[in-house]
Amino acid sequence: MPAQSLHKVAVLGATGSIGASALDVVARHPDRYRATVLASGRNVDALLALCAVHRPDHAVVADTGLYARLRDGLKEAGLPTHAHAGDGALDQLVASGACDIVVAAIVGAAGLSSTLSAARAGKRLLLANKESLVLAGELLTAAADVAGAEIIPIDSEHNAIFQCLRSRRAQAEVRRIVLTASGGPFRGRTRAELARVTREQAVAHPKWSMGPKISVDSATLMNKGLELIEAHHLFGVPRERLGVLVHPQSLVHSLVEFVDGSTLAQLGLPDMRTSLAVGLGWPERIDSGVAGLDLLAHPKLEFEAPDLEAFPCLRLAIQAMQAGGTAPAMLNAANEVAVSAFLQGKIGFLSIPALVESTLAALPATSADSLEALLAADAQARRVTERNLAGHVPAMSIHHHE
Ligand code: NAD
Ligand code: MG
Repeated sequence: MPAQSLHKVAVLGATGSIGASALDVVARHPDRYRATVLASGRNVDALLALCAVHRPDHAVVADTGLYARLRDGLKEAGLPTHAHAGDGALDQLVASGACDIVVAAIVGAAGLSSTLSAARAGKRLLLANKESLVLAGELLTAAADVAGAEIIPIDSEHNAIFQCLRSRRAQAEVRRIVLTASGGPFRGRTRAELARVTREQAVAHPKWSMGPKISVDSATLMNKGLELIEAHHLFGVPRERLGVLVHPQSLVHSLVEFVDGSTLAQLGLPDMRTSLAVGLGWPERIDSGVAGLDLLAHPKLEFEAPDLEAFPCLRLAIQAMQAGGTAPAMLNAANEVAVSAFLQGKIGFLSIPALVESTLAALPATSADSLEALLAADAQARRVTERNLAGHVPAMSIHHHE
């Protein structure tokens, strides 16, 4: 990318938490970046509000039933932005000359299609949507390599590793990669205590402000499991060279150990704008709006092993990674269904790992070398998990007296 030109940035998932952080960094550098495409799921009002501020060339809503509301809203506001709706429209725009940088920040497997489209079109891909890597990591990284698309991981741990390696390739000189985990809001709790936790407690992350789905994943530690699979694909590291350390302060974002005994780590305040600024500016460093780290204000950095007894989701993800093939896609799909049910108050917290485990037990992994096979496994795992949901009850109805 030539340094002088004004980069056109597409923000997919613009109305979400990562979307807001990305637009904040973009708006700090009007001489370098312009948000030209904004896309969201169903929240038209929030998308219209962002269009009024950032005046993109294109706005896309995923739900085609909302197209007229978006088009009329843009017209009423006197904005020059073109309205679009549906996944197909988004995939086309992402691959077109409308953008040269794509921030992939849609939540869940719903983000796979547009992420793949950006990779195939050779865009610089700022990849926050970890579910697309879990579901189709080999296909996605291969598509990016073929098209010369530069993937810059936005997930803070992977962005930290990327900074330590100064690349997306962990060569033989890398002995081990260790992902740090905050431990989430329930660190230190036993399984019995976890049976009673509420939705509100689960989404109240102690260190990071994030969307509801990833917040629940952080509370179950499924997030760290998804991130191990993400790291395996991004950096081409075998499973046995990947580790996890719980680090409650969330200041060390991950570590890379080299064969000579050196360990490099990246530190910073927990604010996703740092990762996004790295992704936008790399290899240059640009202002993100995030303050530097004052270690005297944070003199204590602690590390502990994850508790796989209390948090079985991490174990299930490691097993799925080892099984390979369709297993990670099914793990992700079952988890999306279970987390959505938990957020709707339909099941208790411990039903999340229970549902994922029974889906994986019911559907043995098969090899998967095509997108069709992976999408079929995703759909099948969703059906099985939906069916099993009926047998699970909300935690609150059991423990109503508390
Ligand atoms: P969020 O819930 O705040 O935002 C999700 C965005 O996706 C919204 O704009 C929503 O409208 C859009 N969306 C949802 N379904 C869609 C669909 N079918 N089609 C198009 N758009 C759709 O989520 P978030 O916290 O911003 O997370 C986004 C992604 O980034 C997730 O994959 C998450 O794991 C990853 N991530 C987030 C953080 C964080 O700090 N928030 C950190 C690391 C990774
Ligand atoms: Mg992360």
